[in-house]
Amino acid sequence: LIKNVKFESIDCVAVSPGINLDNKIKSELNNNNISIINDLYLFANQLNRKNLKLIGVTGTNGKTTTCLLLKFFLQNHGYKVEAVGNIGRPVLDILPIKDLEILIIELSSFQLEIVNELKFDVGITLNISEDHLDRYNSFQDYADAKKNLHTQSTKKIINYDDLTLQNWHDKDTISLTYEFKEGVSDYYINTNQKKNLIRDKKDFKYNVSATKLEGEHNIFNLMATIAAVRLINPNFDFDNISLKKFQAIPHRLEWVRNIKGINFYNDSKATNVASTIAAIRSFPNKKIHLIVGGDSKNQSLEPLENFLKKNVCSLALIGKDAKLFQEKFCHIDHLKMKIFKSMNCAVKFALSIAKQDHIVM
Ligand code: ADP
Repeated sequence: LIKNVKFESIDCVAVSPGINLDNKIKSELNNNNISIINDLYLFANQLNRKNLKLIGVTGTNGKTTTCLLLKFFLQNHGYKVEAVGNIGRPVLDILPIKDLEILIIELSSFQLEIVNELKFDVGITLNISEDHLDRYNSFQDYADAKKNLHTQSTKKIINYDDLTLQNWHDKDTISLTYEFKEGVSDYYINTNQKKNLIRDKKDFKYNVSATKLEGEHNIFNLMATIAAVRLINPNFDFDNISLKKFQAIPHRLEWVRNIKGINFYNDSKATNVASTIAAIRSFPNKKIHLIVGGDSKNQSLEPLENFLKKNVCSLALIGKDAKLFQEKFCHIDHLKMKIFKSMNCAVKFALSIAKQDHIVM
């Protein structure tokens, strides 16, 4: 391909996030002084900011959920707001921007690895764990790409429980933790008598128990949303928000159906080990049957082991790496495992062995 390219006729190369430019092509472009750009770069150059506030959201997991939560909170408060980017609507589709007060942009590492000149009012980094190691040389390269949002933001919000993100803390950073940590937590989750409260280190409290979203990771996404909303408007009125109205998002721990007392959830957006663990942790007192497999993207499956040992009864294995899962976990005595060619057969298997009150995900 490179041999046939006439470099002198190229001004710049705009890369789609889905394309993995190989190093040979990158260095050829560099040697020929051809800049590599993407849609965010073009967007940054055409954006007329005026009074528009920008919120950027990145992380390995939870980006879409948090973007939609932000939109829900801000819209319900009366702001003119849109969510674009990795969430599905490309940034360039929203130009020219008229009549918008807040723009939320979901950012993947593939978008962030290419330099753009956007300045964000608030940048949220939810977590960083192994993912996409089929495209990055190392975890560090992946984390470095994600860090660009942080450095391009005036105010930053991070998950301080995440060891990689702890190192990013500076004076403009708001730290979120699952539990209260003296001298660290700007916001934390306080669970008492089955109530989930988001609290800040002063007097702010907001009860999020009414949420329909399953799992503590979603309480965390809510906490990130609340922290961001309060940076945009310190007097944000949470009393007007009816949390119950925010429904689970399709394919993200989405309740599908109850058959014979067995609850079925679709969590097919759990495409890495960390989100699979978050799903298992969402039902600590239930017996779980998992339909898993797919493409492990060079991640280590090791961290799953302890969670599989606890309350997972069976694995119906599908996809490219089904065998890898089988080899990795065949020593767990109680775990029933079988490889299937189709999702249909995997679901039937799970249904045939699950008992009342169990969960199939
Ligand atoms: P993303 O846009 O980053 O892929 P989504 O909101 O689409 O994130 O969720 C993807 C998967 O990650 C789903 O399975 C979801 O249940 C899980 N998830 C959502 N938020 C979190 C979080 N904060 N930590 C871990 N897993 C999460």
